[in-house]
Amino acid sequence: MNIVIFGAPGSGKGTQSALLIEEYGYYHISTGDVLRAQIAQGTELGKIADSYISKGQLIPDELMIDILDEVLAEHPESAKGVIFDGFPRTIHQAETLDALLAKRNGKVDVVVGLEVEEEELIERLINRGKTSGRSDDNLDTIKKRLDVYNNQTNVLRDHYKSQGKYEAVHGMGSIEGIFENIKTLIEKHRSR
Ligand code: ATP
Ligand code: MG
Repeated sequence: MNIVIFGAPGSGKGTQSALLIEEYGYYHISTGDVLRAQIAQGTELGKIADSYISKGQLIPDELMIDILDEVLAEHPESAKGVIFDGFPRTIHQAETLDALLAKRNGKVDVVVGLEVEEEELIERLINRGKTSGRSDDNLDTIKKRLDVYNNQTNVLRDHYKSQGKYEAVHGMGSIEGIFENIKTLIEKHRSR
């Protein structure tokens, strides 16, 4: 199965993805983690990525897609199923993902949307910023990221809703409780 974990910055995508890996053993790709690893290694790509991330902007689609393509090619085990965390973030990325999965006789099976109120998102990200060392976890950049999410990424909810693939999950409350709800929704799409 190919599962997309979707939601605003700070909605808990990474946290829930970690639990999903344990449960299902699928290959996990967090595009944010991939980019931050490049930044940490000081590569050319990392420098380019940092210039966008530190401003709260998205990395250009073509660059992001090339990176994703390469990571998947390096991990043949991903053919059994992938948990996509932080991708797609634009309609163009979603359409490219469909084409990419179709080439391997796959598709996006379900999009799990973690829905969290904006006030809570800001609070979580500011808290994370105290220890994350991330250049984008500060109030100005957080606001910018939320704008980018609302203007470029949120449209994917309707995009996937119209395909019958979007499942909303209330992303507030206990981590375990949220995870139980996610598992139920994934099982509902497994046999389709
Ligand atoms: P969460 O806290 O829920 O994990 P997040 O938005 O804080 O989400 P990441 O997913 O790690 O964090 O993304 C961090 C940054 O990396 C984004 O703001 C963006 O600049 C860049 N990025 C990550 N994924 C993409 C993507 N698919 N397309 C373009 N840029 C991306
Ligand atoms: Mg993350």
